[in-house]
Amino acid sequence: MSLPISGTTRVAAVIGDPVRHSLSPVLHNAAYQQLGLDWVYVAFDVPDGAARPALDGARAFGLVGLSVTMPHKAAVADLCDERAPDAAKLHSVNTVTLRPDGSLYGESTDGEGFLLALRDAGHAPAGQDVLVLGAGGAARAVAVALAGGGSELTITARRADSAEQAAALVGARTVAWDHRDDAARAARYVVNATPIGMGDGALPVPVEALDAGQVYVDLVYHPLETPMLQAAQARGATVVDGLGMLVRQAALQVERWTGMPAPLERMRSAVRVHLSEIQSGRQP
Ligand code: NAP
Repeated sequence: MSLPISGTTRVAAVIGDPVRHSLSPVLHNAAYQQLGLDWVYVAFDVPDGAARPALDGARAFGLVGLSVTMPHKAAVADLCDERAPDAAKLHSVNTVTLRPDGSLYGESTDGEGFLLALRDAGHAPAGQDVLVLGAGGAARAVAVALAGGGSELTITARRADSAEQAAALVGARTVAWDHRDDAARAARYVVNATPIGMGDGALPVPVEALDAGQVYVDLVYHPLETPMLQAAQARGATVVDGLGMLVRQAALQVERWTGMPAPLERMRSAVRVHLSEIQSGRQP
């Protein structure tokens, strides 16, 4: 993909550390190109503790928006002039919109992206029992979105204190990590928000805990077909991979900054090609 850069080109960016393997440039640049915008999206490696000068720089350079990834999500939440309710609750911002008056508006698009991805896949978790595995940033964003949408939530994590903290955000139940197989059996949706399945054969729950009446959702997108996703599918469960959420959370950023509907199909195909090139060793 070649992008014409000129004196009028506008810039959006992601800040993080490390950031060189971020898929956001692939998603955003595909979108801007499809939308015919003279915009470009780049990645800035910003060390821990340097979120403030990065935001000052974004203002000074007139960036259109910033995506924020680890380790800056909490610091940026503190530094924004205004936060969306979910971002305030999570104390985490992954999307900064630079307003014309120079003020910064912070949001977290992960939770809404997750719900939209489920909807795209034909699922409506409102009123359903959902087990969330993990209690980190993604698990919390997903839990806040699911609870807001009326799901009955249970959270389990290998550290009980972390599960309790996540559950307290939304009034969810917790279950001990060692009892997650029973909780999975009882749930209609089982959501893996841990990195289990990235690069090893490990399963976040025993495969016997899932059957044809259930939906297994993996947030992991590298690989797209995790061992658990394959095993759940073989048991007859319905499965949803991590690609939809990845695309939807970026698409919400594109929509916030451009004011245009995001070209979802173009973004999906660009990131699919990129992921398959990583898988086959054609991308670092
Ligand atoms: P995170 O903040 O580091 O949280 C990870 C959670 O998983 C923590 O509760 C952690 O427990 C737990 N965990 C890690 N390794 C584990 C293991 N071996 N066994 C049991 N629990 C384990 O990470 P995150 O940002 O929430 O991301 C979690 C996963 O979701 C990652 O794979 C990420 O790539 C994926 N993700 C996908 C999307 C998407 O758009 N599809 C978006 C965000 C994240 P401890 O606290 O004890 O370490």
